[in-house]
Parts: sequence; C-alpha cells; structure tokens
Amino acid sequence: MTATFHSVDPRTGEKGRAFQEATTEGVGIAVAAAEAVHRAAVLGDVERRATLLDAAARRLRAAGDEIVAVAEAETGLPEARLKGELERTAGQLEAFAAVVRAGDHVEAIIDTPDPGAKPIPRPDVRRMLVPIGPVAVFGASNFPLAFSVAGGDTASALAAGCPVVVKGHPSHPGTGAVVARELQAAASEAGLPEGTFALLQAAGVEVGEALIDEPSIAAVGFTGSLGGGRALFDRAAARPHPIPVFAEMGSVNPIVVTEAALTARADEIAEGLAASVGTFGGQLCTKPGVVFVPAGAAGDAFTGAVGAKLAARDPEVLLNERLRDALAASVEALGELAQAVALPGEPAGPGFRFRPAAYAAAAADLVRSPALLDERFGPIVLLISYTDHDELLDAVARLEGQLTGTVHAGTGDDQLVSRLVALLTARAGRVLFDGFPTGVAVTHGMQHGGPYPATTAPGHTSVGMTALRRFQRPVAFQNAPDHVLPAELHDDNPRGIWRRVDGQFTREPLERG
Ligand code: NAP
Repeated sequence: MTATFHSVDPRTGEKGRAFQEATTEGVGIAVAAAEAVHRAAVLGDVERRATLLDAAARRLRAAGDEIVAVAEAETGLPEARLKGELERTAGQLEAFAAVVRAGDHVEAIIDTPDPGAKPIPRPDVRRMLVPIGPVAVFGASNFPLAFSVAGGDTASALAAGCPVVVKGHPSHPGTGAVVARELQAAASEAGLPEGTFALLQAAGVEVGEALIDEPSIAAVGFTGSLGGGRALFDRAAARPHPIPVFAEMGSVNPIVVTEAALTARADEIAEGLAASVGTFGGQLCTKPGVVFVPAGAAGDAFTGAVGAKLAARDPEVLLNERLRDALAASVEALGELAQAVALPGEPAGPGFRFRPAAYAAAAADLVRSPALLDERFGPIVLLISYTDHDELLDAVARLEGQLTGTVHAGTGDDQLVSRLVALLTARAGRVLFDGFPTGVAVTHGMQHGGPYPATTAPGHTSVGMTALRRFQRPVAFQNAPDHVLPAELHDDNPRGIWRRVDGQFTREPLERG
C-alpha cells in the first residue's frame, strides 16, 4: 500500500487533502530522467531554457488565483503576501531568462597564445562555466512559492542548464502540486523532455536522503533549519562522490542601535522593528532576532516600546505544528535566561498561533549564556543592553555567521560605525544601514548568504541573479580547435556576449594572428 500524508490548515489545525508519499523507487526514476536530460544536453539550448523560464512565469501568473487559494489554506499566510510572493516568483523566473539570453553568466575568458612567452610558451586557454548536472532542491516551509517548487533554487538551476528534482516541503503539498503542474507544462511548451523537472512529495527524511544518495545528483539547494541543512551537508560529504550542498539555514540577523540613533528617531525604529519581527509570524530567515540597545533610560524606554508593540499584535499563525512546538520550546528556554518585556511569547490557539513577544537581557549575560544568541524562528526578539562601546563590540564579536547585520546610528557615531562595519562584514552576507533586513530584493547585486552557520557555502548567494553560479562549474579548453568549442568561446563571438580577452572585457570577435 502507498503511504500518504495530509496537508494541514495551520489556522485551525484541521487536516486537508491526502498526498501520496514518493517512494525510493520513484526517486530513482526521477533522477534517471534528469540524468538523461543532462546527458542529452538539451538544456544547453539557450533559447529553449529562456522560453521555459518565461513560460513558467506566465503560467504561474495565469494560475495565480488557484495557487494563492491553496497556499493560503496550507500556510495561513495572508492573501496579499501570497500574491506578492507569486509575483516575485514569476519575476524571478523572468529575470533569470534575461540573464540566460544575455549570456554573460558563463564568464567566458580567453587567453590568446604567446609562443614567445618566457619561461615557457603560453597556450591558447579558453574558460567558461558549464552546468554542474542534475540538482536536488529542498523547498522551504516559509516561502511556499519564492523558495519552494519553482522558487529561486529551481529557477537558478534551470537557468544554469541543470535539470531539477525537488523534494517538496510537507507543509504545503497542494501548493507544490499546482506549481509543479505549471512548471511541467512550461517545459513541454519549450520542447523540453519530462525529466527536466520533477517534484517528489514526502513528509519525512527518507525521500530526501535517498535523493541526496543518488549518484547522478550533482548539487543540492536547501533552505531550512540548521539541523536539516547540516544533516544533508554531512550526508552529501559522506557519499563515495561528495557533492556541494548550498544550504541556507538559520540567522539571528543582529541589529545595533546606538544612543544617537535613539535620540534622533526612537519611535520610528521601535515601530519598524516590531513590524519586522511580527510580520508573517516572524517566520523569515532575515527576521531580526537580536537587537543591541544602549543601557539606561533611553534604551529601557525603547525596549519597553518594542515589547508593548509586539504584545499588542494579534497572535500570529505559524506555518505548522512542528515549528510552533519548536518555537514554544526555545522561548521557554529563553525565559530562563532573559525577562519577557511585556507578555511572554507562547502558543495562543486556535490552530498553530503564537503570541509575539520581546525579551530583555544584558550584554554581560552573554559570557555565561551564549545560548541567548540562538535563533528563534517566529515573532520573538531579544533586546540586549550594552553599557559602553567596548561591551557592544565584544558582544557583536561573539556572533556566528549571519545572513545580515544592521546598524542604526546617528550624529557623532562615525568611529563606532566603522568598527561595527568591520565586525559585521566578517560575519554577515549583507550589511544594512538605518533599515530592517526582512525584505530581500531579487536583483543582480543582492547577497543572501553568509558564513556558517548561516549557510554551508559562504562564497555564494541563494537570492539574486548570481545564485545561478552555484550550479555551474568551470572548464578550461587548451589549444582546442574552434569547431569543438561551445559557441560562447568561438573566435567570432556569435552570441555577442561580454568576454575577458587577454585581461580586457570586450564583446568584439577575436582576430587570430
Ligand atoms: P527543515 O526542518 O530543515 O526542513 C526543510 C526540508 O528539509 C524539509 O523538506 C525536510 O523534510 C527536509 N529535511 C530536514 N532534515 C532532513 C534530513 N535530515 N534528511 C533529509 N531531509 C531533511 O526546515 P523547516 O521545516 O522549514 O523548519 C523551519 C526552520 O528552518 C526554522 O527553524 C528556520 O531556522 C529555518 N529556516 C531558514 C530559512 C532561511 O532562509 N535560512 C528559511 C526558512 C526556514 P521533512 O519536512 O519531510 O522531514
């Protein structure tokens, strides 16, 4: 008999539709089909790849009402947020189509030969990035569209020319099924075979483990917990042929508020912080979890204001029971180390609701209780008071790798800000000024990553156009005849892409001497 699991409406806790669990045989079939697509190099056709991405965007928009309705019932996220996320997902697919058409993402480099070079003659060397192979993607619970079945990992892997097998998140299986249906239709519209993309539904780790173990899987994209990401990273490293795992995991996204910032705009910062912590149940990987505030009257008033604003919010619906229970346990542990500022954070049904809250502790407590700096995934923030700049800098230096770090400063803070920027640059993928980290723009320059434990691959990003770089690998061709080279490296530059020729960027054809 085939095993099934159910979707659950987190607003009520009631079971929804049943979904069939993928089997390990099903994993093998999906990966074999993906491998066949990779070997046939059909995704090497740039125009077909771009057509697939554009068609997927158009189809997702056309099915938007259905997708949003299913996602709302499975995640409890508000309709407006899901509509925005759908548009972001479609826009992301189109942006990758544009990147693929522009062609520069292959980073073509040509060093022309120099027979007279000393001490040895220099060969003709032409280097570019090629698709790494079939990619396994693990969708995230908190972004059922933008970081899930047709989200950033899938879009960037397809854009790189890699077939994709997704392990869907069991928190939104119905959403995943509709999105997969549209993505498969887009592949067929682009004349691409079925193995280009597959979705495996499962609630439990076995299917994901079997997927990682498949010898043809060449890389993994993951967004989720530190425990999950680390387990997959270790498993991939233990394979006979280890593969890279691009896991994006937890972060407390520290914010530093200086005395001068409070003097200038305490109310504004408190308002922005409470919204950044509470919105969407605080279930964002960029939610600020730790905020450093000056000790004393201004800092205390600020902490009190943030606590009051959070306590006044309605309980937030969390995505699933597992997240609710994990948050309840971590907030209970926090209650042993810090004081609730207004009301404590706790489950507040019906469904998987949780009351938002702020907690307060002193920087001096970090020595005894490093667990204060742990991530709490939900509408909870810890405000840590510092007595002077040295104590602040020492506390910031205790932080592990982060997705983001933020400074709110004011007049006269230049020296302090320079020192904070140095500390945060060493620890975070994105450093922000006078803002909040929760929104992540999908642009060419965006960096969404950071040193471990924020990710397992600090050299990369999972948001923005360079996310595609994770699923490519470089190959250099030495003294190759023109006809065997990929078009991007031909002398006449038929695609008109930017290339670095003998160190200079140019789109001109190459004159062979
Ligand atoms: P999760 O528990 O890590 O699960 C994510 C996916 O990985 C699920 O499909 C899960 O499968 C699978 N998985 C987990 N452990 C595995 C293992 N050992 N072997 C094989 N597959 C495994 O993440 P989540 O359910 O989304 O929980 C939320 C947590 O993720 C939060 O605590 C938060 O810290 C983090 N998070 C981070 C980000 C970010 O952008 N960095 C975003 C969202 C969430 P099953 O569920 O089927 O077991």
